[in-house]
Amino acid sequence: MVSFQKNFCVLKEEDILKHQMDAIERVSVVLSITEVEASILLRYFHWSVGKVHDEWFADEERVRNTVGILERPVVPPSDDTELTCGICFDPYPPEKIASVSCGHPFCTTCWTGYISTTINDGPGCLMLRCPDPSCLAAVGHDMVDKLASEEDKEKYNRYYLRSYIEDNRKMKWCPAPGCEYAIDFVAGSGNYDVSCLCSFSFCWNCTEEAHRPVDCSTVSKWILKNSAESENMNWILANSKPCPRCKRPIEKNQGCMHMTCTPPCKYEFCWLCLGAWMDHGERTGGFYACNRYEVAKQEGQYDETERRREMAKNSLERYTHYYERWASNQTSRQKAVTDLQQLQTHNLEKLSDKQCTPESQLKFILEAWLQIIECRRVLKWTYAYGYYLPDHEHAKRQFFEYLQGEAESGLERLHQCVEKDLLQFLNADGPSKDFNDFRTKLAGLTSVTKNYFENLVKALENGLADVDSHAACSSKSTSSKSTGCSSKTRGKGKGSSRTGGS
Ligand SMILES: [Zn+2]
Ligand SMILES: [Zn+2]
Ligand SMILES: [Zn+2]
Ligand SMILES: [Zn+2]
Ligand SMILES: [Zn+2]
Ligand SMILES: [Zn+2]
Repeated sequence: MVSFQKNFCVLKEEDILKHQMDAIERVSVVLSITEVEASILLRYFHWSVGKVHDEWFADEERVRNTVGILERPVVPPSDDTELTCGICFDPYPPEKIASVSCGHPFCTTCWTGYISTTINDGPGCLMLRCPDPSCLAAVGHDMVDKLASEEDKEKYNRYYLRSYIEDNRKMKWCPAPGCEYAIDFVAGSGNYDVSCLCSFSFCWNCTEEAHRPVDCSTVSKWILKNSAESENMNWILANSKPCPRCKRPIEKNQGCMHMTCTPPCKYEFCWLCLGAWMDHGERTGGFYACNRYEVAKQEGQYDETERRREMAKNSLERYTHYYERWASNQTSRQKAVTDLQQLQTHNLEKLSDKQCTPESQLKFILEAWLQIIECRRVLKWTYAYGYYLPDHEHAKRQFFEYLQGEAESGLERLHQCVEKDLLQFLNADGPSKDFNDFRTKLAGLTSVTKNYFENLVKALENGLADVDSHAACSSKSTSSKSTGCSSKTRGKGKGSSRTGGS
C-alpha cells in the first residue's frame, strides 16, 4: 500500500470517556475542587486542561464568576423547617429542596421539569445555569444524575460525550453512516487522509472520502461539477458498451479495464478508450496514452456559430473523458473491495487446499488486492486533478500524463494478474508447478505499481515542481545525458495519442 506515517488515532466511546475522566481528575487535583466543578470548568473551556489551568491561576475569582461555580452561596443556608421554591412558590421541607452553588432553593419537581426542558432543547443543556433568571451559577451533571429521568440522563450523557469531540478542533466524528468512532488528528504532517476502524477512509480537513494527493478545493469543485452534470453523465455509469469490432454489447463485470469480446469475435479492447488492448501493453513499447485527452482535429473553415457549437461539444467531451475515468476507477475499486472480501472468506482457504500451500504464504495475494484498492482511489482522484490542470501548462500536463499513464498501466497489469491469472490456480485440480511463477509475477507487479503510485503522489503533492528537469531532458535542444529520459519520453509524439470513443 502507499504508506503514510500515522497522523491520527481512532477513539472508541470508552476511549473518549476515559479521556474525559482523566481530564476531570487532573483538573480536580490541581485546583483542589470537586470533580463536578472540574467538569463544569472543562466543558466551559472546551475540554482544554491547559486553558483551564491558565485561566484559573490568572484570576480564580473571575473564572468562578463567569463559569458559575461560586465559592460562597448567594442565599445562605437556613435552619427553617420549610423553604419556598423559587418557581412554584410552594413551601417544602428541606429534603424536597435542592440548589446549586448559589443556594437558590427550588423543589425537586420544578428542578426535574426545568432540567428535562433544557435537555430536550439540545446540547445547550451542558451549559445549564440556575433557574433564577439573574443567577449565573452552573448546574453540574450531579444534579442531572439525581433529578432527571432515565431517558433524559441518557440524552444528557450523549451530549456530554459528544462535547469532548465537537469542542475539540483536532477531533472529528467519523462521517461514515452509523459509525460512532472519532478521529484524533495530529496536525503538521501535511497529509489529511485518515482511516477509521470501520474501514472508511476520509479527508480530515473536508470530510469527503480520502482524496490524497489531490487538494480539498479541487475535490469540492469536482463534486460540484459532477452534480451539475449528473443528468448528462448517467449514461457513463452503464456497465455495457458495444464491442468496437463486432458491435455486440459487452458487459463489464470485472475490475480491470482489459475487455475481451465473447467468441467468435474475442476482440481485446480497452473499456475506457475502446482502443485495441495491444496498444496499451508493453509490446508496443509505447507511451500509455489512454489517460490523455486530446481534442479531435477540426477541419475546414468554421463560422462563429459552428465554432461555438464545437467548443461546447469539446468541453463536454473533455469533461466526459475525465469523468468516465474517475467513475470507472471508483467502480473498479468497489469491485476490488468485494473481491478481497470474497478471497478472505472463501477463496484463500480453497486456494491453500488446491495448491497445498499454507494460508500464511498467500499473503502476497492480499497485499496485491490492498494495493489495488488504494491505487484505484488515488488514480480516480488524479482524473479530477487532470481536469483542472490548466491547458496552457503544457510541460506540466505532459509530465503529469506521463506519470499517470505509467501508474495506470502498471495498475492494469496488476489488477488483471490477480483477477484473471489467479482463477486458473483456484480452479485447478491440484497443485500447479506454475504457482511459484505466479507468486513472483504478482509480488513483482505489486511492488512496481506501488513505486509508480508513490512517484505520482509525490509529484502531485509538490505541484509537479520537478517538471523543469523533465522538460529540459525531453526538449530537442539538449542532447541530455540524464539517464532514463529518452526512454521515458519515447512515443510521446502526437501520433501516439488517442481520444475517447472510436
Ligand atoms: Zn417548585
Ligand atoms: Zn441561583
Ligand atoms: Zn468510522
Ligand atoms: Zn479534503
Ligand atoms: Zn466483438
Ligand atoms: Zn484505453
